[in-house]
Amino acid sequence: MSEPLKKGDKVVMHTCREAEKYRDKVWTVRTDESEMCGSKVVWLEGFRGCFATEFLRKVCHVCENEELKHDQQYCQICGHKLEAN
Ligand SMILES: [Zn+2]
Repeated sequence: MSEPLKKGDKVVMHTCREAEKYRDKVWTVRTDESEMCGSKVVWLEGFRGCFATEFLRKVCHVCENEELKHDQQYCQICGHKLEAN
């Protein structure tokens, strides 16, 4: 699997209900990854409660720093999919 998430990492949500609601939003991880009830979780800035890391994907430095654009389907650097409707 991928490396554990750490405080300060930038992530996007995917394949979960919240990912539809927060499409294109890049979140900042505010805790190191920990284990809760058998799931790996982190806390996100501005999000209430913890979030399972299986639904989070780390983004590249471009995605960290720029607003994601809706007319773009995939980031050309990290390849993360920007769900376009
Ligand atoms: Zn990217």
